[in-house]
Amino acid sequence: MLFKPDFNPPAVEPESALWFIFDKGRLLVKIKNDSCAIPDTSDLAKYKSNINHEQYLGTLDEHPCYAAEFAGDPIRDTELAFKDLRGLFGKLEEDLIWIAGRANQLVNWNQTHRYCGRCGKLTEDKTDERAKTCPDCGLINYPRLSPAVIVAVLKNDRILLGRNKRFKLPFYSVLAGFVEPGETLEACVKREIREEVAIKVKNIRYFGSQPWPFPDSLMIAFVADYAGGEISTDGSEIIDAAWFAKDNLPKIPPKISIARQLIDWFVRG
Ligand SMILES: [Zn+2]
Repeated sequence: MLFKPDFNPPAVEPESALWFIFDKGRLLVKIKNDSCAIPDTSDLAKYKSNINHEQYLGTLDEHPCYAAEFAGDPIRDTELAFKDLRGLFGKLEEDLIWIAGRANQLVNWNQTHRYCGRCGKLTEDKTDERAKTCPDCGLINYPRLSPAVIVAVLKNDRILLGRNKRFKLPFYSVLAGFVEPGETLEACVKREIREEVAIKVKNIRYFGSQPWPFPDSLMIAFVADYAGGEISTDGSEIIDAAWFAKDNLPKIPPKISIARQLIDWFVRG
């Protein structure tokens, strides 16, 4: 599938388009046996008046794609239902998951930037880029992105994995944390690992990146080597951490995440 992002909708509204519609963070999908699909214009004919704040996303294999918000009574439909995006991993094609993630970020941004943060006036969409501008004071707001580092720390043949208090399932993963204003990514890697498990790291190298739209993170992944210290968890965010050999891994995160890609890379060694 080829997705071409764009923010300027076609001049004439297309007869057929794919609609990524959200209600309270849940995505509207068409249910077909055990798998799901994204509804198109014809599937949504009777819900037209419930669909608001549409934003053009671009094209997927020439099909126009829109993000929008749903308003009104809950949908009672045998074919359509709102589902948690994370619960759709494995049920919706992966390309569609990532477009839905992009749509989710834009819907959230639209909901939280309707008014100017400086003077309180209603904002307007800019026409030459994806941004909102205040007609009164000129403040421009771009879609919000929160960069976070995620790090595989290696010590001899073992990897540092920790269990985060926020994980719903009891799995262990590589450590991660949000970048602070004024901080380089490398400084963030050192600070997060030191704060969370009291370990020093060196030889920090880039691994890859992944948007993580829950709600607006950009995960930037690194590999680093152990440089000193004994594991001591901070107790507030990380409740347990240890060095694991590849033949003795605990329960780890699902396939789609870059956390898992880091761990799989370590296992392939
Ligand atoms: Zn303003």
